[in-house]
Amino acid sequence: MGAGIPFDTTQVLVGGEWRAAHGGQTLTLVNPSDGSPLADIARGTASDVDAAVEAARSALEGGAWGRMTAAERGRLLGAIGRRVLEQADELARLEALDVGKPLKQGRADALALARYLEFYGGAADKVHGQTLPYQAGFTALTWREPHGVTGHIVPWNYPMQIVGRSVGAALAMGNACVLKPAEEACLTVLAFARIAQEAGLPPGALNVVPGLGEEAGAALSAHPGVDHLSFTGSVATGSLVQAAAARNTIPVTLELGGKSPQVVFADADLDAALPFLVNAGVQNAGQTCSAASRILVERPVYDTVLARMAERYRALRVGPALSDLDVGPMISQRQHEIVSHYLALARDSGLAIAAQAELVRDAPAGGYYLRPALVAGVPDRHALAQEEIFGPVQVLIPFSGEADAVRIANGTPYGLVAGVWTRDGGRQLRMARALKCGQVFINNYGAGGGVELPFGGVKRSGHGREKGFEALYGFSSLKTVAIHHG
Ligand code: NAD
Repeated sequence: MGAGIPFDTTQVLVGGEWRAAHGGQTLTLVNPSDGSPLADIARGTASDVDAAVEAARSALEGGAWGRMTAAERGRLLGAIGRRVLEQADELARLEALDVGKPLKQGRADALALARYLEFYGGAADKVHGQTLPYQAGFTALTWREPHGVTGHIVPWNYPMQIVGRSVGAALAMGNACVLKPAEEACLTVLAFARIAQEAGLPPGALNVVPGLGEEAGAALSAHPGVDHLSFTGSVATGSLVQAAAARNTIPVTLELGGKSPQVVFADADLDAALPFLVNAGVQNAGQTCSAASRILVERPVYDTVLARMAERYRALRVGPALSDLDVGPMISQRQHEIVSHYLALARDSGLAIAAQAELVRDAPAGGYYLRPALVAGVPDRHALAQEEIFGPVQVLIPFSGEADAVRIANGTPYGLVAGVWTRDGGRQLRMARALKCGQVFINNYGAGGGVELPFGGVKRSGHGREKGFEALYGFSSLKTVAIHHG
């Protein structure tokens, strides 16, 4: 397919060996910038997952991975991170071809992956237990142990970042991982696994089984040999994964969707807010779980914010990922259709599309381009203000005062992230307490990735926390030891 991909993309990684899927079948990835076939990947199935889980178990029990100390694991993760850093440009190129992500965004993802490995490498030997005051004649203590075999199911939108935060933390704690990347895009996951192997990650510590969600993904979530599941994706699939985990009574971390608001009060520093308001809606063509898809604006500044956001929208340029513009294509024809449906719904409901970005003239006709759209004056119960669109569509919702802002911000089934823009210190804290979500950003949004900051949702956005030190607790279980010595 001639895209200059420097490795065999058609294999699974099991127990340190790259080989074809047992069924011998493949799936074809598509380049979203022009709709052409990009590369074939393995179509792993249940028997590949069986082999991967077995390889992970062997790596822990008797394998070199299980014998490594926490300090050794940390040093190794650091070394993998440095190799990722050296190859950041190539990883960004692969992500541009596969996900349709502009090069600068792919590069930022590669740097984030490297940073996760640096962070979790440094933290690996700093997770410790406690000694507990207890009855006379006893010494009681706790320590943290890996769960064992951890299953990781990741989506296509941020493969590098999500692998960094979930596999990075799981490996730091000494788990052995089975990773199921998304069927729409997984080249950087395969490249990462090769980099980890070259840096010396022992066989079986990381196994990768690409394939369809309903085949490889379902087999991994239902596998009785898996001790913990980490899932990032849609609410519908997340609930299937949780049901499968429940049948094996294992813990599961669910990082699901969102309808995250940024709340702009009339006293906000609008010059500071404006870039964050727009970027957090259109980054990765809006295909971001924490996209700020709702902009709530206090009425006195509503017209100003609308005009200034519209101006920015009109200046955005949309085009092929390798051209490295502001916005690339959607991941697939299907995603393009879903988002187009919401824009049609906006028009049918009489909502004003206040501004749309421009598509560059030389964008290939076969690409899945969608011009980012700003929709004004959206009632807070409208489908566009309630449902996760997962595309570059932001809605502007006016509000009157703090209580109204909280009611609207909390009034969806989701609770992932929120942003608040105000100069009033008391209001900053009241809002941070009142918002029902996993992360609140005051006078910023996203904190530039925030590898160090625990992340996850409430309500339909999921449960459990990844990122930051907190993830290390999630990827381990606490053992209590009570010694009676008289
Ligand atoms: P998806 O749920 O369709 O797919 C995610 C992964 O699950 C893929 O690897 C897929 O193959 C797998 N899968 C599909 N069916 C499965 C099944 N029956 N059993 C097990 N695995 C299965 O999600 P998507 O459309 O690829 O991703 C978009 C969604 O992900 C959005 O809702 C977005 O908000 C969410 N997301 C959340 C976060 C977060 O951190 N909260 C990050 C990125 C994306």
